[in-house]
Amino acid sequence: MNPSSAKLFQPETIFVEHDARDYPLTQEILARLSHLPVQFIDSYHNMAARVLGLNRRIAAEKRALILAVKKGELVKHVERDLFRPTPNEYYIIHSMGCPYDCEYCFLYDYLDHQRPTIFVNLPDLLARLHEVIDAHTDEGDLIFHAGEFSDALAYDHLTNLSQPLVELFAQKRNARLEMRTKSDYVENLFGLTHRGRTVVSWTFNAHEVAKGIEHHTASLASRIAAAQRVQAEGYWVGLRFDPLVWYPAWREGYRKMIAEIFSAIDPDRISDVSLGVFRATPGLKHVVQQRVRRSWLLTGEMVLCTDGKYRYSKPVRREMYRRLAGWIRAHAPQVKIESCMESPEVAAAL
Ligand code: SF4
Repeated sequence: MNPSSAKLFQPETIFVEHDARDYPLTQEILARLSHLPVQFIDSYHNMAARVLGLNRRIAAEKRALILAVKKGELVKHVERDLFRPTPNEYYIIHSMGCPYDCEYCFLYDYLDHQRPTIFVNLPDLLARLHEVIDAHTDEGDLIFHAGEFSDALAYDHLTNLSQPLVELFAQKRNARLEMRTKSDYVENLFGLTHRGRTVVSWTFNAHEVAKGIEHHTASLASRIAAAQRVQAEGYWVGLRFDPLVWYPAWREGYRKMIAEIFSAIDPDRISDVSLGVFRATPGLKHVVQQRVRRSWLLTGEMVLCTDGKYRYSKPVRREMYRRLAGWIRAHAPQVKIESCMESPEVAAAL
């Protein structure tokens, strides 16, 4: 394996909900991990590790895998972005929690524990997707995001979930799938009938940021190489620059990142680009401060905004958007660039 590839997630122990044990996906994953001890549990909730110290607790939790049945919503309407209407966007809830460890991850504030959890009731998920998509035949393209509550491909070597998802969306004329990832494991995407209905999106960050605070993810170079490979397979690729992180050499770091990406990726096979500057709820800011004493995530001055999140000041955000958009347009003048979770007055800098 390339040393800068994402390490494929190999848990040290497995918890299986009693209700989940007979699902085919459970059996497939257990067969792939047959060397590991399995413990049966009633529910994936309330599974925080009893370990002192936040860093040690998170590390302990991320070494275990939970197989569970998702009750309630498997497909959730997006209500996330206060600044941007999202009437036709949905999240696919195939898993919760992530084996990677990006220090800015909102899941640290959102979930009650960080144990990677895969939902094995795949037939229910696929049936629900058909139902939601087929009920909206007249409303134009719907977009379904896999990778909001986890990384879309971080478990694919265990689940091969990409195959049924890509093939389902290939049958639909009014819906697209977005698989958002920081992995470089794209093997299962090859040889599938996708009919251009799947966008594989990479979140990219400057090399120093990826290396410094996106632990266990694929390096910038490996993500670019993976994106190049899926473009060659005919997939559209989305570019997500989110979160942009301020650090003293950010201009040089992000300029180089854009040049590296466009030296490899075909601008005519990019579906869209989104940019978002780092933001944190007070809860996430507290987690970051607790985990890393002088986190460089918090080296830029941050102000509390009207939506209750901390962000860099407006002049800093405007400059980040303006410069990034300029460097991107120099390589791909036609590409659609949007902001993510940003006020319209600051996003106007794009
Ligand atoms: S890849 Fe995404 S979900 Fe996983 S830790 Fe990083 S930010 Fe969180």
